Amino acid sequence: MLNLVIFGPPGSGKGTQSAKIAEKYRITHLSTGDLLRQEVEHDTPLGKEIRKYIDKGLLVPDEIVLREIKQQINGQEGIPGFIFDGFPRTINQAEAFDRMLDQNDTPLCLVISVEVEEEELFNRLMGRSEDSGRSDDSDEIIKRRLKVYKEQTFPLISYYKAQGKIATIKGMDPVEQVFGKICHAIDTYLCSRKVLPVVY
Ligand code: ADP
Repeated sequence: MLNLVIFGPPGSGKGTQSAKIAEKYRITHLSTGDLLRQEVEHDTPLGKEIRKYIDKGLLVPDEIVLREIKQQINGQEGIPGFIFDGFPRTINQAEAFDRMLDQNDTPLCLVISVEVEEEELFNRLMGRSEDSGRSDDSDEIIKRRLKVYKEQTFPLISYYKAQGKIATIKGMDPVEQVFGKICHAIDTYLCSRKVLPVVY
């Protein structure tokens, strides 16, 4: 099974790249952001609860996110793999995820970390805010999301480095070029089970 995580700050292009990876490698794209927004759209009590966090630019509590992920991966044995986009986002989520994968005997292959400079991230997110229709794409909330990323999600890089699973991709180039670098990292893994630490 090809289990991948794509990791990066808001605005790093995770969603765009994940869709391309899912298509090329025929694996399932699981975006926690999309799953949580769907729940919000349904306007259920759970959706209302989730909305409080997303609208403030804060992380949704781990237990809610973990429940969503479990629902998605259980009962999907035999499929070629997953690309997890926006998950895990805290050390606690990563530890729970490791246990989940262990139980299913489907280890994580590679964590693709997309690096983009902070000023560029802010500009991209502000730039897309008019068409995205997302309630969390406003000046103040974007700043909060970037701060939350640094404080709660960035430490995952060391977590996965210690497992020898991180391939760092420089993400400042155009979409196709970044995609080419990601494919290079995935193909190297598939051919030789080697993780390229950095792809420039
Ligand atoms: P971005 O990466 O641009 O912030 P996402 O669609 O991945 O966009 O996430 C949007 C929001 O959804 C986050 O700000 C957060 O509130 C919530 N969210 C998504 N994934 C997680 C997660 N793994 N843990 C907690 N909250 C999450």
